[in-house]
Amino acid sequence: MDKYDILREFFGHEKFRNGQEEIIDNILSGRDVLGIMPTGAGKSLCYQIPAMLLDGITLVISPLISLMKDQVSSLTESGINAACINSSLGIQEYHEFFRRANNNEYKIIYAAPERLDTEEFLNFAENVKISMITVDEAHCVSQWGQDFRPSYLRIVEFIDKLSYRPIISAFTATATKSVKNDIADILKLADPFTLTTGFDRKNLYFGVIKPNNKYIKLTELLKKYGDKSGIVYCLSRKGVEEVCEKLNEDGFSATRYHAGLSQEERNKNQEDFIYDRKQIMVATNAFGMGIDKSNVGFVIHYNMPKNIESYYQEAGRAGRDGEPADCILLYNGQDVRTNQFLIDNNRDLNTELSAEQLEEVRRKDMERLKFMTYYCTTSDCLRSFMLRYFGENSYAQCGNCSCCTGEFELTDITIDAQKIISCVYRVHQKGRDYGKSMIADILKGSKNEKLINLGLDTLSTYGIMSDTLIRVIRSEIDWLIQNEYLLLTDSEYPVLRLSAKSADILKGNTKIEMKIPKALPKKEKNSKKEAENQYYAESGLFQKLRELRSAIAAEESVPAYIVFSDAALRDMCRKLPVDINGFYEVSGVGTRKAEKYGERFCSLIANYIRENPNEEKAPQGEVSYLERQLESYRENAVGSKR
Ligand code: ADP
Ligand code: MG
Repeated sequence: MDKYDILREFFGHEKFRNGQEEIIDNILSGRDVLGIMPTGAGKSLCYQIPAMLLDGITLVISPLISLMKDQVSSLTESGINAACINSSLGIQEYHEFFRRANNNEYKIIYAAPERLDTEEFLNFAENVKISMITVDEAHCVSQWGQDFRPSYLRIVEFIDKLSYRPIISAFTATATKSVKNDIADILKLADPFTLTTGFDRKNLYFGVIKPNNKYIKLTELLKKYGDKSGIVYCLSRKGVEEVCEKLNEDGFSATRYHAGLSQEERNKNQEDFIYDRKQIMVATNAFGMGIDKSNVGFVIHYNMPKNIESYYQEAGRAGRDGEPADCILLYNGQDVRTNQFLIDNNRDLNTELSAEQLEEVRRKDMERLKFMTYYCTTSDCLRSFMLRYFGENSYAQCGNCSCCTGEFELTDITIDAQKIISCVYRVHQKGRDYGKSMIADILKGSKNEKLINLGLDTLSTYGIMSDTLIRVIRSEIDWLIQNEYLLLTDSEYPVLRLSAKSADILKGNTKIEMKIPKALPKKEKNSKKEAENQYYAESGLFQKLRELRSAIAAEESVPAYIVFSDAALRDMCRKLPVDINGFYEVSGVGTRKAEKYGERFCSLIANYIRENPNEEKAPQGEVSYLERQLESYRENAVGSKR
């Protein structure tokens, strides 16, 4: 068997995706590997296929129990001998694991990093041959990564204790340079083959909305998404509880997840979501690292997260199956202040770091927050903004984000800009410096107590923008900072200062135009694919296939997407296989799944064709009835848009 056979037979895929083959070849040649690929790119196959071809065992270190379990059930379903060892095993299961592992019965073993320094595990590692150690979510070793886990440092200690050196492969979706270097250094990768694939996720639509009322906007979006499954991220536990409760009161099927809930409730809620018993997961960022649920149709951020790394990772949980999916961020200025507060208070948690190191961490966090805020306030292409952040050159206009497809009003803000800049100037003249919100309040002529007590209401610029909405003033200030007409300092309480470019505006040399989005635009980009999906969603056969899939998932106690993805079911509708050979042609069907489920799906399809003779598959070389239907459906869908 070679890598292609394994890809087809066990995983049911026709082709390798970008980067997979190169990584696999390098591992098989015995070289260490560092793979940096976005969420959903297919990192698992990059180590699972070599694991099948190497002679010994592959040990996969993974940070979360739920992640391991999902991977192990997926592998087992595909006919690969895999198991995991973690604290959730009972004493009997534990002994059974070691008995079988020592007996070389598993090809792939998942372990939590905490396992590695137990004596039993070391004995086992010396007793068998571990050909490769794979470190998944490898950014957890880096203090500069967004989810540093001290227990990940045990991996290095473990490798050092072994009397032999396995191949080491490490994978992450975090692309920043410091994290990348840390992984290679800390894990002591030996001249690793390093591959970074494009971070673009073309099937994802990115949008930023600045709603007057976030909750109302959220419910509008959820109604639009119909019965799709999705995640709503909030910054705080309290936020999660409030939003989840309101959604349930308003008749949505929502559950919740945050670190303050009991382990029991967290497990239950997570499973309800994964098994499609609950449609919407409202959660803090504690939720998701272990979630490989492939049919997530949308990720809505109710608050702005603290940096772009987190945002791209969380949003990236949408559309892993390659289907069009939405990533929407609901933004307001309060989110920035909340994040600043969280960053300032984070220092108390990291007691192991020196005061200097803490200040360095805080500075980096603030810097990252600044870019996140830019993302929310920019009127340029959102996708290229993020890709540039990750160091990738990209197109200027992606055509699939709210900035590209939005209708903008190009507004002349020269006069406003002059007012804002002279306000900053006047304040500074008086020997004072203030942050964005105080400057906005002065311009607005706010009556807030602090402002009055400081005597700021006597400034000549006080109230000169009283006719302008405060949020418009704030976004104009943001725009001026982004375009370097104003500076925001890096200090603990960032304040506004004039920049070298400020004078141009005061002198009236520059005309300033800012794009202001009108409303959330309609998407056009994915509409053909969506029309196709809609067609299948309404087809009777597709519904029947889904029912069968649910029944099997319940029998086997696995989530539906582990049995087959929606894409595989649609391919069945297209190819209408009625025997095992035909079934084998369906994308996502490997030998094991063909043998296990082929008969049930084929007989369902055969019955369906018998009962619906008009839909019988056309002879070879001709377009099938279903395809013709689809064609006319597409035409109608296009026609009705005009
Ligand atoms: P990552 O770990 O990079 O976030 P996964 O390994 O979980 O991504 O893979 C995401 C999805 O992509 C899975 O549903 C997987 O079946 C699918 N996938 C991976 N490789 C291929 C391939 N070569 N062809 C088709 N689908 C693939
Ligand atoms: Mg993964």
